[in-house]
Amino acid sequence: MNITTQNLQTLDKQHVWHPFTQMQDWLADDPVIIVKGEGCWLIDSDGNRYLDGVASMWTNVHGHSHPALNKALSDQAARIEHSTLLGLAGEQSILLAARLIDIAPLGLSKVFYSDNGSTAVEVGLKMAYQYHCHRGHPQKSRFIRLQHAYHGDTIGSMSVGGINIYHDTFSPLLFSTIESPAPNCYRCPFGKEDLSSCGMACLNALEELMSEYSGQLAGMIIEPLLQGAGGMLVHPEGYLRGVRSLCDRYGILLITDEVATGFGRTGKMFACEHEAVSPDIMALSKGLCAGYLPLAATLATDEIYQAFLGNYTELKTFFHGHTFTGNPLACAVALKSLDLFEENNLLESIRKRIKQLSGLLQKLAEYPEVGNVRQCGLAAGIELVRDKITKEPYPWAEKRGIRACRKALRHGIFSRPLGNTLVVFPPLAVTSEELDFLVDGLYQGILESSNEG
Ligand SMILES: *Cc1c(COP(=O)(O)O)cnc(C)c1O
Repeated sequence: MNITTQNLQTLDKQHVWHPFTQMQDWLADDPVIIVKGEGCWLIDSDGNRYLDGVASMWTNVHGHSHPALNKALSDQAARIEHSTLLGLAGEQSILLAARLIDIAPLGLSKVFYSDNGSTAVEVGLKMAYQYHCHRGHPQKSRFIRLQHAYHGDTIGSMSVGGINIYHDTFSPLLFSTIESPAPNCYRCPFGKEDLSSCGMACLNALEELMSEYSGQLAGMIIEPLLQGAGGMLVHPEGYLRGVRSLCDRYGILLITDEVATGFGRTGKMFACEHEAVSPDIMALSKGLCAGYLPLAATLATDEIYQAFLGNYTELKTFFHGHTFTGNPLACAVALKSLDLFEENNLLESIRKRIKQLSGLLQKLAEYPEVGNVRQCGLAAGIELVRDKITKEPYPWAEKRGIRACRKALRHGIFSRPLGNTLVVFPPLAVTSEELDFLVDGLYQGILESSNEG
């Protein structure tokens, strides 16, 4: 039997519960069903093509169904699909760990594998806390994090999140954290207008919190340079460096969540490199496996690792592990992806696309409804506002972003907004023509959805 688009749509509505989706709205519409991918394009069950404007939730690097990655995957499947890291070592996870440490910021020397960004963060939090326990400071059990932070959707990673609309419902289940104001220059929490004269009030506020709570703090967690899910908020230059030096001053571990920014997105392999910062713990996922399979890694310094060594009976073991830890299929693809970075000189071509994007965004910023464009590497947010002068936002219930993206879909662009902010986050292998097409399609989407009222 040939399954038609309509059959699939019916079955989807009957049985699939989609993430971050009001299913009542979903049921009222006919979903686009993706059956194929080619380069940066998604192809649906009727043969329509859409440019993958969000790199399939920020994961895709070299394009879809890439021949070299496909081959790495099938070659590995022909050897072994999975064996455990609990009691055994695995060839691919060894090779990948060595490779990651090779490219990671200085000082990181150990790789702990898991399956997704949320778990990579949870591993980092548990590691940081247990490290302090082993050092004789079990009272250092709290974490400081930024307003609008996003670190994942499990209970622990939500606890260090700061997006009210996602996290408030679950607040009775979450552990309490200390929130520091976001370095959000468009809507500065301190009402400052000008970066040259603000004196980075956000860093001063952080210092006050650190000094007040330092005896209780295990670590500070931060998305370096770019707060993605919080609305593509781009930090001012020097902020991350300031955070690093404050953490040092107050004896607080710095956990960087590079789940979104890692693997070339910012124009360097890791965002931290822009500010010559080395974290104590670093969480990686999304781009790690080039969009192929769920894979994550938490990197740690030798100092942290050493604190966990001891006699068996001392119970200093890091008690954490997931069933599919270090999966060989995923590790083989991740290794091949790193080869492709070199073979294709990808970082250099990313830098060209970053320049191009910044030109395209400048034009977009002139449009009356565009309050602010924010770019960090090959990622950008285009914030739509009701009033450009007062920065008055659209009420979220108006679905301003969703309406613009729905129109853009008709122009062959798939993008998923963050509230009123449209997102540009293409696969890193995006061509010059495709990037033009993407930004133009979003622009058309804004125009058409604006006219509809
Ligand atoms: C997506 C994301 C996560 C969560 O990753 P999942 O794989 O969805 O669990 C964590 N941190 C950041 C910065 C992210 O962008």
